[in-house]
Amino acid sequence: MSDIIRGGQFLVKETKCEDIFTPEDFNEEQIMMRDSVIEFVDKELWPNKERFEKKDYALTEEVMRKAGELGYLSVAVPAAYGGMEMGFINTVLVCDYISGATGSFSTAFGAHTGIGTMPITLYGTEEQKQKYVPKLASGEWFGAYCLTEPGAGSDANSGKTKAVLSEDGTHYKITGGKMWISNAGFCNLFIVFARIEDDKNITGFIVENDPSNGISLGDEEHKLGIRSSSTRQVFFNETKVPVENMLAGRGEGFKIAMNALNVGRIKLAAACLEAQRRTISGAVQYANERVQFKTPISSFGAIQAKIAEMATNAYAGESATYRAAADIENRINIRVSEGNSHQEAELKGVEEFAIECSILKVAVSEDVQACTDEGIQIFGGMGFSEDAPMESAWRDARIARIYEGTNEINRMLSVGMLVKKAMKGHVDLLGPAMAVAEELMGIPSFDVPDYSELFAEEKEMIAKLKKVFL
Ligand SMILES: Cc1cc2nc3c(=O)[nH]c(=O)nc-3n(C[C@H](O)[C@H](O)[C@H](O)COP(=O)(O)OP(=O)(O)OC[C@H]3O[C@@H](n4cnc5c(N)ncnc54)[C@H](O)[C@@H]3O)c2cc1C
Repeated sequence: MSDIIRGGQFLVKETKCEDIFTPEDFNEEQIMMRDSVIEFVDKELWPNKERFEKKDYALTEEVMRKAGELGYLSVAVPAAYGGMEMGFINTVLVCDYISGATGSFSTAFGAHTGIGTMPITLYGTEEQKQKYVPKLASGEWFGAYCLTEPGAGSDANSGKTKAVLSEDGTHYKITGGKMWISNAGFCNLFIVFARIEDDKNITGFIVENDPSNGISLGDEEHKLGIRSSSTRQVFFNETKVPVENMLAGRGEGFKIAMNALNVGRIKLAAACLEAQRRTISGAVQYANERVQFKTPISSFGAIQAKIAEMATNAYAGESATYRAAADIENRINIRVSEGNSHQEAELKGVEEFAIECSILKVAVSEDVQACTDEGIQIFGGMGFSEDAPMESAWRDARIARIYEGTNEINRMLSVGMLVKKAMKGHVDLLGPAMAVAEELMGIPSFDVPDYSELFAEEKEMIAKLKKVFL
C-alpha cells in the first residue's frame, strides 16, 4: 500500500493493471449509489430539461433541496457534521452521475458541495464546522464561493476586496465586488476572499447572506448555457463579519482557494462524464432511427467514426478520472492510518494528485465539448434545434473549459507543478529523460517486436508517448 504511485509519477513509473481502479471495480455500495443517483436524475432532472433551459432558477433551488433530502449534498461531509463521510471515489461517482442531465443543476451542485462547503470542512475551526456544515450538508442552507472580481479572474490573488478590522477587534468590515458567483441568487452563505491591509495574500471568510448587512446582488447574468444556474455579482459594503469567521489564518485565503479548486477540478472532470454517456446514447439511438438514402445513417462510415471517437474519449476520460480518484482515496487512507485527521489527510491526498486533477479538468472538459458537438452533427438539422437534447448539452458543456481555472491556466499549472515535483525529488523526471536522450543517441533496435502479449502494442505506444514528453 505504501508503494502506491505518487502524483505525476504516472509519466515515469509503470503501474500494474491490477493496481488501477476502473468503474468495473465498483463495489456493491457504489453500484447502488450510482443506480439511485441515476434514478434521481431520471425523475427530477431529465424530464425538466426544457424548464432548465428557460431560466427557471427556482427549479434549480427546488431540486437542490430534494438532493439534500436524499443525502446527495452530504456525501463528502464527515459524519460528525451530519454527512455520509463517503470515500473519495464515491464522492466522484455521485458528482459524475448527478451531472448528466443539465449543466444548470450540475453547476449548482458543484458550487454548493465543493467550493461552497469544502473550505469549511477542510479549513474550518471546530466551532465553524459545527455551526455551518450540518446545515450545508442537509440542504437547509446553500453555499457560494466569492473569489472572482471584475479585475481578478485567472489572477485570483489580485482581488481588491478589502477586509478592515474594527477598532474594538471584534469583526472585519468587508467591502468590494465579486463577479460570476454561482448560487448567489439563493445561497445563505458565501465563502469570501478579501485582502487585509496590504497583505501579499488574500484571506478567506465565512459570510452569512444577510441583505441588511451591506450585501446586495446584481441581476442574473444571461448566459450561453447553464441557464438555470444562478450567476450574479455580489457586492459587499462594509459587511460586518465576526473575527471568528475567518477561515484558517490571515493571508491563507489563496491557499484555501487553490486547494478547494484542486478537488473541484477532478469533480468537474467527473461532472463531464455522464453528459458524454447520455449524448452518445442519444446519438446512437438517433443514428439507428434516422434513414437517409434508404439506409440508417448509423451504417455510414462517417457517422460510425464520430461515434467511435466519442466513445473512445468518454472511455479514456472515465477510466483516468476513476483511476485518479482511487489514487487520491488510497493516499487519504494512508494518511489517516498514519494518524492524520481526515481534514489533513484529504487536503494532502488531493494536493498530491493536483497535477492529475488539472490534466483531467482540461481533457474531460474538452472531450464533453467535442462529444456534444458531434452529437449535434449526427442529429443534422435537428441537432441545431432546441427540441433535441444536443443543443443545450453543447451550450452547457462550454462553461467547463472556463471555470475552476481556465484550461489555459490548468495546462500551465500541470506542467509547473510537475517541474516543481521533479525539483523536490518527488518525481524523477531527470533520470528517465536522460535515458531517452541516450536512447536517441544510440543505435535503434531493429528487432521485430513481439506483440503476442495482450495489449503489448498499446503499452509500447504509451511508453513511446511518454518518451516524447520526456
Ligand atoms: C458561469 C460562470 C460561473 C462562475 N462561477 C464562479 C463562482 O462561483 N465563484 C467564483 O469565484 N468565480 C466563478 N466564475 C469565474 C471563473 O472562475 C472565471 O471566469 C475564470 O477563472 C476566468 O477568469 P476571467 O473570466 O476573469 O478571465 P481572464 O482571467 O480575464 O482570462 C481571459 C483569457 O485569458 C487567458 N489567460 C489569463 N491569464 C493567462 C495566462 N497567464 N496565460 C495564458 N492565458 C491566460 C484565460 O485562459 C482566458 O482564455 C464563474 C464564471 C462563469 C462564467
